[in-house]
Amino acid sequence: MEATSNFDAIIVGSGMGGMTVASLLSSRFGARVLLLEKHGKLGGFTHIFKRPKPGATDPDQKYEFDVGLHYVGQMHKGAPVRNAMDAVTGGAVEWSPMPDCFDRVSFPGFQLSVPKGRDRFLAELIQRFPAEEKAIRRYFKDVQSAQGWMMRNQMAQNFPKGPWSTLLRAPGRRLALGNYGDYLKTHFQDPGLRLALSYFWWDHGVAPSECPFVTQAIIAEHYWEGAYYPKGGSSTIGTAVRGIIEKAGGVIQLKTEVKKILTEGGRAVGVETADGKTYRAPWIYSNIGLQRTYEDLLQKPMPEGAKDVFKTPEFTVVTLYLGLRESPTRPGSVQKVEGENYWLCDVESLDSEEAWVRRDELLDGKAWAAYLSFPSLKDPGAKPGLVTAEIMAVVSRDAFKNWNGTSKSKRGEDYVALKARMTEGLLILAEKHIPGFRALVDFQELATPLTIEHYSSHRRGAIYGGAPIRSRYESGLFRPQTDVPGLYLCGTDAAGHGIAGALMGGVLAVGASKGWIPAFRVFGPSS
Ligand SMILES: Cc1cc2nc3c(=O)[nH]c(=O)nc-3n(C[C@H](O)[C@H](O)[C@H](O)COP(=O)(O)OP(=O)(O)OC[C@H]3O[C@@H](n4cnc5c(N)ncnc54)[C@H](O)[C@@H]3O)c2cc1C
Repeated sequence: MEATSNFDAIIVGSGMGGMTVASLLSSRFGARVLLLEKHGKLGGFTHIFKRPKPGATDPDQKYEFDVGLHYVGQMHKGAPVRNAMDAVTGGAVEWSPMPDCFDRVSFPGFQLSVPKGRDRFLAELIQRFPAEEKAIRRYFKDVQSAQGWMMRNQMAQNFPKGPWSTLLRAPGRRLALGNYGDYLKTHFQDPGLRLALSYFWWDHGVAPSECPFVTQAIIAEHYWEGAYYPKGGSSTIGTAVRGIIEKAGGVIQLKTEVKKILTEGGRAVGVETADGKTYRAPWIYSNIGLQRTYEDLLQKPMPEGAKDVFKTPEFTVVTLYLGLRESPTRPGSVQKVEGENYWLCDVESLDSEEAWVRRDELLDGKAWAAYLSFPSLKDPGAKPGLVTAEIMAVVSRDAFKNWNGTSKSKRGEDYVALKARMTEGLLILAEKHIPGFRALVDFQELATPLTIEHYSSHRRGAIYGGAPIRSRYESGLFRPQTDVPGLYLCGTDAAGHGIAGALMGGVLAVGASKGWIPAFRVFGPSS
């Protein structure tokens, strides 16, 4: 079969990383790109889905749910990450600030509200734990040092190796790669304070006892200036990017699975899709992660140094999607909820890792910990009367092994019963921390790690790609360049996890292939 070869670049996968590359190549380099996506929707974890409101006669009355975007930091005007996001979306996505206290932590006998603003959070902690002021101040400085080390490490691994790359990595390495659990134990006495500085580790997926300081520091700093949500929901990113790609003559092809990357003389020259078609282009970008790019598309083992990162227990979740009869902000219904995140936990010890160890008790209906978010309440563009909530909880993938090989909607009655038990457990936990919540539930649907595998193709339902453990930073492999000329990774495995990490992965992929200076201009104002 003859190959289609009139594209300047092919991008495999339309997550935040793939969309970043496709958009920037189209708008900055006038490239005609082909974006191939296996799923029927654009956007990877930024896609959305809708469900009819029970009993509604108007077909537009649908609850709308995000899959993988609850809140994003560094989206305030002027922030380099925001500038890059605006460059990718052509400024068409409006980022709406979440409430001033964007995180509320609720443990037995311990409540914490986390305010927007580094200095305000610092002051709040000092006021609450005055005996530990010195250690708290030091922590805030250490976070910034580790963040600086991460950027130098990123630079060192993206540029050719040389003695200066060792020099870039050396200062601050010990702190950055030191164990975060040990740091907490050594520097802080009060378990409440340790919790205040670690409750959010689900945002990167590595428990403090396994986590390098730098991983936790990246997330801590990411939200120091508050949290944001895209007006109109996360699919607005895809809508904006589609316009930019098509304006430059590019093509987005959904329901198209790439099976193989084609090489000639060791260089990537094209792709072959599941329906047997081949497409050629001088530049190929893969948004499907390092492991799958090597093992599935190149059909060879991934580099040795990356293997550890995919061996650690994967971080995967169940999500309960809820439609609510009315807004929980209504006085008298439940406590005043304004769209902030809730981190709920039943563990008396205030040690969030205890909930991690007991995570699979959820399959028997006992939820120890959950993250609760209210998408419609943080979205000024949400349709009135269609209030949504999402409850996420961690589980292990192995707990679902009995259903390996089953397909969606045909997993059997025991799976349906299991989902009902988990739903019940999560609603009990939410009700305990937010009395009155349960009575508002109008619609419910639970997604498991098997659902994540089905829709995203992430192996074992791992939501963040390669785990940000110490060896990830040491390997030098989590960068856009691969050992195949012409083939680049983009997305989380090319830089860091989360929406901002995947965006960064896309920018770095453009930099590595087309030149760093034009790529880095996206971080500047009105780029
Ligand atoms: C439940 C959940 C909640 C989250 N919450 C947040 C949050 O609040 N804030 C935040 O910053 N991050 C959050 N994240 C993480 C964030 O969504 C991801 O880290 C990020 O979106 C990943 O982007 P990516 O570009 O790496 O790729 P992905 O979004 O994983 O996209 C990869 C795409 O490639 C496609 N694909 C796979 N194989 C093929 C193939 N062979 N051929 C063609 N296409 C293929 C997939 O279908 C997919 O569309 C969350 C994730 C999840 C799952």
